[in-house]
Amino acid sequence: SAPCKIDPMRFDALSGMKSGMHPQFHSLPSIALANNKKVFGNHSFRPNQRVVINATMSGYDVFVLMPTGGGKSLTYQLPVLVCPGITLVISPLVSLIQDQIMHLLQANIPAAYLSANMEWTEQQEILRELCSDYCKYKLLYVTPEKVAKSDVLLRHLESLNGRGLLARIVIDEAHCVSQWGHDFRPDYKELGILKKKFEKTPVLALTATATASVKEDVVQALGLVDCIVFRQSFNRPNLWYSVIPKAKKCLEDIDKFIKENHFDECGIIYCLSRMDCEKVAEKLQGIVECDQTEFGHKTAFYHGNMDAAQRSFVQKQWSKDEINIICATVAFGMGINKPDVRFVIHHSLPKSIEGYHQECGRAGRDGQRASCVLYYSYSDYVSYSENDVDCRRLLQLLHFGEKFDAGNCGNTCDNCSKIKTLVERDVTESAKQLVELVKSTGQHFSSSHILEVYRGSLSQFVKRHRHENLSLHGAGKHLAKGEASRILRHLVIEDFLAEDVKKSDIYGSVSSVLKVNESKAHKLCSGRQRIVLRFPSSVKASKQGKSEATPAKGSLMSGKLSPPQACSPAQPQSEVDLNLSAK
Ligand code: ADP
Ligand code: MG
Ligand code: ZN
Repeated sequence: SAPCKIDPMRFDALSGMKSGMHPQFHSLPSIALANNKKVFGNHSFRPNQRVVINATMSGYDVFVLMPTGGGKSLTYQLPVLVCPGITLVISPLVSLIQDQIMHLLQANIPAAYLSANMEWTEQQEILRELCSDYCKYKLLYVTPEKVAKSDVLLRHLESLNGRGLLARIVIDEAHCVSQWGHDFRPDYKELGILKKKFEKTPVLALTATATASVKEDVVQALGLVDCIVFRQSFNRPNLWYSVIPKAKKCLEDIDKFIKENHFDECGIIYCLSRMDCEKVAEKLQGIVECDQTEFGHKTAFYHGNMDAAQRSFVQKQWSKDEINIICATVAFGMGINKPDVRFVIHHSLPKSIEGYHQECGRAGRDGQRASCVLYYSYSDYVSYSENDVDCRRLLQLLHFGEKFDAGNCGNTCDNCSKIKTLVERDVTESAKQLVELVKSTGQHFSSSHILEVYRGSLSQFVKRHRHENLSLHGAGKHLAKGEASRILRHLVIEDFLAEDVKKSDIYGSVSSVLKVNESKAHKLCSGRQRIVLRFPSSVKASKQGKSEATPAKGSLMSGKLSPPQACSPAQPQSEVDLNLSAK
C-alpha cells in the first residue's frame, strides 16, 4: 500500500467533517453507491462512511472513531462487494459475530466465522474453503483468541495473502486493545502480529471509544503507521439526559418514569451486581406475591454469572420484544444492535463517564428520541452526577476531548432545561487556593476529599489526617459545595490539575487523585492568569449555613457521599463555565 503522506491531524477534526476537507476520499465508484442502496437498503451515507470507505479502499491504514450506531460496519462490508479477496474481521464476541453474519447472509453476502468453541469438523470445512481457489466467502469473522492462539488460522491467512486474496483486516471494537479503555481484552493485545505478518494489507480499526490515550494505545499496539484517523462528534442529539438522586423508593420512581414516558417500550436498566439485576428485574415485574406494589413490567435479568445459553436466550427474548426491560450488568451491551431501545437507566453509578457514554449509546440507534436516566446515591470520581448545572453533553464529550457548545444542546438535558440567565464571576482566588491545597496535602487525595477540606469539613477522615490544622482548611467555607466542586473541575479541564485514577488501598475502592501541573499552576498562582466562570444570575451570592453542612457522615474514601440534600440548597448557585477556557 502507498505510504500515507497525509497529515493525520487534518482528518482528526471534531464535530463532523465537511466533505470538502478531503476531496481525495470523497468520490466512490458508482458500483459502491449502487450497492449501498441495492444490497444494504441505505438511501444515503451517514457522516464519514463515504470517506472511510474510500480511504480503506485506497489501501491506507485507517482508524475510525465513530459513535455507537454511527454505522461502522458498513465501512468494511460495502468494500467487500467491490474488492476481490476476503476481508478478515476481528470481533470480540461470538454473539456479535453471529448477529453480523445473519445480516450479511440476509443480504446475500457470503460470510463465515471461526471461534474456539465451534465443532472442529465445522471449522475444518471453513478452513478448506479458504484454501480453495474460488473461495466463496467475502468475509471471515474471528474472535481475537483465534488469532492469538491458532497457528492453523495464521497459516491459512498466509496462504490467502500469498495468493493476493487477503483484501483487508478489520479490527472491530478496537478499544479492547487498550488497557485505558473500559473494555480491555488481553487477546486483543496480540493482534499486532497481523500488521507484522501482513504488512501490505490495509487495516481498518473501528471503535466508539475516543479518548486520546486509548487511541494512541490502539495505534501503537496494532502497529499502524501513518494511519488516517477519522473522527466525528460523539454527541448524540436524540438522547435526552438526566440525573436523579436515588431515593429509597428508587424502583417506584423508575416504574413511574417508564410508565409515564416509555410505556411498553424497550429499555435497559444497568445495575451494579448480579444480585441487583435479579432484584430489580423481579421487583419491576412484581412477581413477589406479598409485595404490595405490582409494577407489572416484562423484565428479565442478564449478568456474567449466567451461562451462555441463558444469556443468549434472554437477549433473544428482548430482541424480539417478548420482554421489554432487561436488567443487566455491564456484561450486557457491546454490539447490541437493537435500534429501538427507548431508554437506558442506570440504577447504579457507571464506572466512568466513558463507560456511561458507551452504555447510553445503546439507546436510540434508530435516531428517534430516547432517554438516559442516571440514578445516583454516591459519587466519588464521577462528578458528572453531582453536577447540577452544566450541560450533560458538554460534560460527557469533554472526556472524549471534544469541546461541545452547550448552546447546541437545545434543552435536551436536565441541567440545560433548568438554567436561565448567567453572569460572569472572577474565581481566581478560590482557584489559587484549591491548587495550593492540593499541593500542601501532598497530591494524594481525591477531588471530593480536597473539596471537603477546602469547605472546612470536620468529618472523621479529615480529622484523622489532621487537615483541620492546615491554613487552607475551610478557606472555601463561603462557597456552596457545587460551586467549589465546579471550580475544581474547571482546573482539571484546563490542565491546572490532573486526575490520576488509582485503587485506594484503604477501602479498596477506585478513586482518582489530584496532581498539580506545575507549569500551568505557576501562571495562575503568580497572578498571570485569571479565571472567570459564569453563574446563574438569579442568585446573588453563596449562602452560608445550610449548604455548608458536611455532607458525609461516613468516610469519603469509601465512596459514600450523601446525595444532593447536602448541596441542594445551593442548587441554583453554582457557576456555569460554558466557555471552558480560562480567561
Ligand atoms: P456501529 O457499529 O457504528 O455501532 P452499525 O454498523 O451496527 O453501527 O450500524 C447501526 C445501524 O445503522 C444498523 O442498523 C445499520 O443498518 C444502520 N446504518 C448504517 N449505515 C446506514 C446508512 N448509511 N443509512 C441508513 N442506515 C444505516
Ligand atoms: Mg459495531
Ligand atoms: Zn444540555
